[in-house]
Amino acid sequence: MTDCLFCKIVNGTIPSKKIYEDEYVYAFHDIDPKAPVHILIIPKKHISGVPDLRNDDDVVIGRIMRVAHHLAQENGIATSGYRVVVNSGKDAGQAVFHIHYHLLGGRHLAWPPG
Ligand code: AMP
Ligand code: ZN
Repeated sequence: MTDCLFCKIVNGTIPSKKIYEDEYVYAFHDIDPKAPVHILIIPKKHISGVPDLRNDDDVVIGRIMRVAHHLAQENGIATSGYRVVVNSGKDAGQAVFHIHYHLLGGRHLAWPPG
């Protein structure tokens, strides 16, 4: 999509602090971190959100979860614990309509979330 912030991050039009990339997935530091570790993991392909997932996307979504654990290990939060969050829609506060998984950790994360 030409007018999507995260597509522009994937193609380099908008800069990001990249920490991981493979054929399906791109990961970068959140610009406004809510925890000591706050990484966004996204499919390179444009998918607007959870409601737009198709059968064909199962591979990339599975990959994202495995990348989340890999990046948790690399960032020293795999043992202490971490959260992987997807916001979908208005009540959840989804602001960017290119599906993204927040990897959060490095502090106690309250439950239930706000
Ligand atoms: P959400 O509310 O789930 O849609 O989350 C969107 C996230 O994208 C927020 O945590 C923002 O801080 C983050 N964000 C917005 N613009 C950028 C950017 N240019 N680079 C990195 N993260 C961003
Ligand atoms: Zn996009």
